[in-house]
Amino acid sequence: MERTLAPVQATAPVAPRTGRAHFYPDVADAQWNDWKWQFRHRITKLEELEKFLPIPAGERALRADVLRDFRMGITPYYLSLVDADDPADPILRQVAPIAEEYLFRDVGEEDPLGEERYSPVPGITHRYPDRVLMVISNSCAIYCRYCTRKRIMYEDAVPDVEIDRMVDYIAKTPRVRDVIVSGGDPLTYGTKKLESILSKLRAIPHLEIIRIGSRVPVSLPQRIDDELCAMLAQYHPLWINVHFNHPRELTPDAAAACDKLSRAGIPLNNQSVLLKGVNDDVPTMRALCTGLMKMRVRPYYLYQCDQIRGAEHFRTPVAKGIEVIEGLRGHISGLAVPTFVIDAPGGGGKVPVMPQYLLQHDTKNQRVVLRNFQDRLFVYHEPTGRARSVGERSGELDVDATPPITAETTATNGNGASKAASHAGAPAKNGNGKSASTRSNGSAAARVGADGKPVVGKSRWVHRGHSREERVRKANET
Ligand SMILES: *Cc1c(COP(=O)(O)O)cnc(C)c1O
Ligand code: SF4
Repeated sequence: MERTLAPVQATAPVAPRTGRAHFYPDVADAQWNDWKWQFRHRITKLEELEKFLPIPAGERALRADVLRDFRMGITPYYLSLVDADDPADPILRQVAPIAEEYLFRDVGEEDPLGEERYSPVPGITHRYPDRVLMVISNSCAIYCRYCTRKRIMYEDAVPDVEIDRMVDYIAKTPRVRDVIVSGGDPLTYGTKKLESILSKLRAIPHLEIIRIGSRVPVSLPQRIDDELCAMLAQYHPLWINVHFNHPRELTPDAAAACDKLSRAGIPLNNQSVLLKGVNDDVPTMRALCTGLMKMRVRPYYLYQCDQIRGAEHFRTPVAKGIEVIEGLRGHISGLAVPTFVIDAPGGGGKVPVMPQYLLQHDTKNQRVVLRNFQDRLFVYHEPTGRARSVGERSGELDVDATPPITAETTATNGNGASKAASHAGAPAKNGNGKSASTRSNGSAAARVGADGKPVVGKSRWVHRGHSREERVRKANET
């Protein structure tokens, strides 16, 4: 029977509901590219946000309540990165209040890092021996819902006398060689005002480097203009730490801003915060870190989210950060792997937290067992000052000479006895005490040396079913 095909329906092309063309179709380039226009047109009220993105009925009051605790600010540029069709959009989640923030508004602390406790003069936190944090601004281009410094965002200028007092403290504290100029966001100031502060700092002979912490290349890249870069270039050595959290923030505009800063001789490092629902998975962080490298920005820190009030819904278990770093280290350029840190509550400073690659340190036999990024195990011998015996070879542990007994291995070795034993749940032993199932791959003889120790360095690193602890234990039995 002959079948007639239904005519193909011409589907009208669906315009993506994102980008400047979607949110701000009528804004001219001259305005869009003017950072002051962007700053003035920030979305700060729910009514404004609603015009672009409807707020679910029943959530309006909760969200309004949240804004009484912590202001909202979204530049038109940053809003243009939002995908209006994604209710869980990772860009929007960083800057718009949501119901979860209301639910957790009383969980957490105002000043989780004890910045004010370690403050010799208002605005300065002196926690480490040779460097200080200097908070010179109470405003940002966007307000991140998880910000550790929510408590200071008043949007009034920090009085000059206060800034002078901070500069004085650094001037009379010779051990300070590095200042982190932060806020708020120092790059929300006009170029002249910022220069007046930088020039005072540069006049301090013992101050070696100046660092600026800024999210402006992410939230307001139009601000990074030639005038600003020319000014900054006069105060070298000057470094800038930026704050990208998601690969969708790596836009051509952001790349152009970073390129300008780099060309002004400013090294750029990135500090991300690990945020649930934003970047708490390996593929997102790989895309972010490799993308930053293409913009000549080096991933520096990945922060565990602080216990800040109203940010509980952003926090991830510590294991998540370790998992993310494991998914980066070895898999992408080492230059692209940040250090995962937890800022110790109450003012302990940044504590690096790492996946464990040193599985065992046998100080008696001066031997370490290492794990690589593929989960292969290696023995390394420390210097002992004596000749080593044959059995003490360094190299890869051939733990797959003793794989677990599985249906697959027993089925191929044709050994009824071991099959029966494996069904009974106990590993079958052959004559030399090795698991009989090692024969299943036909190379057991080649893998056990004449001295009865496993031959190292030839493993195909198949370790199905063994826990890491089990593998180290087995390695030590040999
Ligand atoms: C993060 C921080 C610094 C700088 O730390 P580095 O590890 O040198 O980047 C300095 N002071 C305070 C209070 C900080 O929070
Ligand atoms: S830009 Fe930085 S200081 Fe400003 S709100 Fe965001 S995290 Fe806080």
